[in-house]
Amino acid sequence: MNKTIAVIRGDGIGPEIVGEALGVLDAVAARFHHSFIYREAPMGGCAIDEFGVPLPDSSLETCLHADSVLLGAVGGPKWDSQPSANRPERGLLKLREAMGLYTNVRPARMFADLASSCPLRADIAARGIDFVVVRELIGGVYFGSHSTAEENGEQKAVDIMSYTEHEIRRVAHVAFQMARKRRGRVTSVDKANVLDTSRLWRKTVEEVAKEYPDVELLHMYVDNAAMQIVRDPSQFDVLVTENLFGDILSDEASQITGSIGMIPSSSMGEGTRGMYEPIHGSAPDIAGQDKANPIGTILAAAMMLRYSFDMAQEADTVENAVDAVLKAGYRCGDIMGEGCRLVGCREMGRLIREQI
Ligand code: NAD
Repeated sequence: MNKTIAVIRGDGIGPEIVGEALGVLDAVAARFHHSFIYREAPMGGCAIDEFGVPLPDSSLETCLHADSVLLGAVGGPKWDSQPSANRPERGLLKLREAMGLYTNVRPARMFADLASSCPLRADIAARGIDFVVVRELIGGVYFGSHSTAEENGEQKAVDIMSYTEHEIRRVAHVAFQMARKRRGRVTSVDKANVLDTSRLWRKTVEEVAKEYPDVELLHMYVDNAAMQIVRDPSQFDVLVTENLFGDILSDEASQITGSIGMIPSSSMGEGTRGMYEPIHGSAPDIAGQDKANPIGTILAAAMMLRYSFDMAQEADTVENAVDAVLKAGYRCGDIMGEGCRLVGCREMGRLIREQI
């Protein structure tokens, strides 16, 4: 197969980790006789430096015409003083919206070989952690209007949160379909005791659930969900929620699995094109030092193979290669454990390629 991939290397450790993921994709292409064509799409701080904006039109076009997008990370202290409309993250929000990527899927899975990195009590971790967070991505308060104005002699800030039924319905379908391929349980998270948007969320999810009688649906308030994720994460299979709650809970979910450097995510809309990235940021504190863990980005590339290109065997091969390297005791600094061998970003990439 021939596939065109838009490549956003981004800032900080972005170019290092994306470089290793592309090396892994090259190894997959060689083994399975595919051809992956990479088109560079500058975005983030590097694009501000070169083009004056975080997402130049040419990069947007490249992404819109590609079969999928692979992203490292954007942002860093150098661009913190940019006006909010021109910050690196704005490029990301604009790209998600332009590509119609309304769902973000993040697996929270603990690798058996990394159980010692799990911050939870051993008896809780022993029950296993294997669930996915399905987050609505282009609605809610992040995309509502924002304003700050003077009122009665003081500043007042307002952020509007809104949801329509169709915005809720389409992400609910993604969650139920995913549950069908997993353990058949959806936990929908909201704050229906307080928020109107949450009451509409709950009602709409219940309507969608009627089309999936084989899937169990539970509702949970977001404050309780935040507790349950650390009290007993083994109860979750697919957790679905709106944008703001999903942003927070998916970070919490990833943290309990060990390292932030290990976790991929996919953002999808209609059709097969998606955007794939690790969940972490640009880690400016370790950029350029060959210390970044590239596994999150490599597993993001595996998700791209599975979900956008329908290459399940190729995706399995990448995931098994990662498992094998971890089993052999190789670790980047963020997941280093006793008796293991410390390797840098480049060496970790090479070891994984070697397995493929
Ligand atoms: P971060 O995720 O970049 O870093 C948090 C900590 O985790 C740091 O100590 C870092 O060294 C470590 N870390 C992250 N990824 C790692 C990896 N692959 N291997 C080893 N260690 C890793 O979060 P932050 O410091 O809050 O943000 C830094 C910048 O990234 C900010 O400008 C932020 O806006 C941006 N950011 C971008 C994205 C994105 O592009 N999707 C997401 C989050 C943050």
